[in-house]
Amino acid sequence: MKRVAVAGFSHETNTFAEGVTTFDDFVRGRGFPGLMFGGELVRTLRGKSMPTGAFLDAAEELGFELLPLLWTFPQPSGLIEQDACDRILQMLLERLEAVLPVDGVLLELHGAMVTEDLPDAEGHVLARIRELVGPEIPIVSTLDLHANISPLMVRESDALVGYDTYPHVDAYERGWDAARLLISAIEGETRPVSALAQVPMLIGPPRQCTLTSPMSDIMELAHEAEERPGILNVTVSGGFPFADIPNCGASVTVTADGDRGLATTTAQDIARAMWDRRDEFRLTLTPVEDAIEYALQTGDGPVILADGSDNPGGGAPCDGTVMLQALVEANVPGSTVAIIADPEAVAGAIEAGVGNEVTLTVGGKTDDRHGPPLTLTGYVRMIFDGRFANKGPMYTGVEANMGRTVVFVVGEVEIVLTEQRIQPYDCQALRCVGIEPRDRLLIGLKSAVHFRADYGPIARAIFEVDTPGVHNPDVTKLQFQRLRRPIWPLDEIDELP
Ligand SMILES: [Zn+2]
Repeated sequence: MKRVAVAGFSHETNTFAEGVTTFDDFVRGRGFPGLMFGGELVRTLRGKSMPTGAFLDAAEELGFELLPLLWTFPQPSGLIEQDACDRILQMLLERLEAVLPVDGVLLELHGAMVTEDLPDAEGHVLARIRELVGPEIPIVSTLDLHANISPLMVRESDALVGYDTYPHVDAYERGWDAARLLISAIEGETRPVSALAQVPMLIGPPRQCTLTSPMSDIMELAHEAEERPGILNVTVSGGFPFADIPNCGASVTVTADGDRGLATTTAQDIARAMWDRRDEFRLTLTPVEDAIEYALQTGDGPVILADGSDNPGGGAPCDGTVMLQALVEANVPGSTVAIIADPEAVAGAIEAGVGNEVTLTVGGKTDDRHGPPLTLTGYVRMIFDGRFANKGPMYTGVEANMGRTVVFVVGEVEIVLTEQRIQPYDCQALRCVGIEPRDRLLIGLKSAVHFRADYGPIARAIFEVDTPGVHNPDVTKLQFQRLRRPIWPLDEIDELP
């Protein structure tokens, strides 16, 4: 039986965010389970819509021995302390060394990880694994659609299989693709060679959504190319624009069967198609007041306000108050804001107790880039432990922990206050505290795009609202220093380099 080492080492690093990501953040996890090893990893991720969940099923169905090393995926946040990355990588390498020899390595990486010393952390991780297993052992990794793919990552792996969807509803399927690719390479049926075409484009997350054009059309091109003889995989990455690193941005990676020329031309053709449609990738945001006005005019909900600039799923603090303030001032019946992460306000509400009135200072405490703290008087409707499992199409079954959670009602606006920064992309984040999203007129969500998977089918209208923040979908508002230039839309470029 073939022996395959499996590990997950993921983080989406927002280098603009306040504060650093520590070893402890990797240990605790929050949005996903924390750092896990061996059997615990297998028990926790079996049956989950994650790449590693697929690796586990593939091992049974394809008949290989899966050697679980470790798995960790903390909530996106600021630059990773070098020591945190070094320690986790060391644990991974020690566990890998202990199970050698292996026939292959199957990884779940994100692709947008940045540490204090490593702008291309995944490139480094892959290189260290390659060093240990040698050049002949195939290494295949899944990647998030928001990977900032570097030449080093492509060189140090045999294939990179990125998600094809945003919202990410195909993590499980891409895990299976990666497992099949690895096994066919181990069996000698295929000889994967990969080529990367970086596209000099920074695309705001809402325009990367694969439910709408032009990204849906680009994905169609990728799927067509995958049907051609000799092509094993096509990965179109939207990139994670909130990383001030040289390799930030969109890219196309193609894996072909032994034919590097075919991989290169296929990647370049799709990169060209993205570039040619760059004007369609431009983004317009809506003033919060206009979105509220729309809901008042139509009187039919839910109208979703996506506060992408404060999306904790992209490393933002999740305590921004600009959208909250507008909704409190408008005081429209049927308004909900989910979520504001503010442990101090949660403690104040819990101290006041259920059914009691209290004045709290809410939000705006992480930095001065997401609006000031608001002094709000309201009543405490509910106190909850903040645990739920996703029921929507994205990462189905995965358990989230918002920490102690309070429904705080200010006038006509109900505010979900939590201890932890969690992106409320699954309707369960509201339903677990007794709020039925279908019954609300206005819902302000700290999410850029992922909410569309679960809220999309029930939403009357969706607005990407114009608020400030470190995850501002309008990438021209960010100040870059280390990014390679020129890059669209920050610079004028006449021809694709
Ligand atoms: Zn992503």
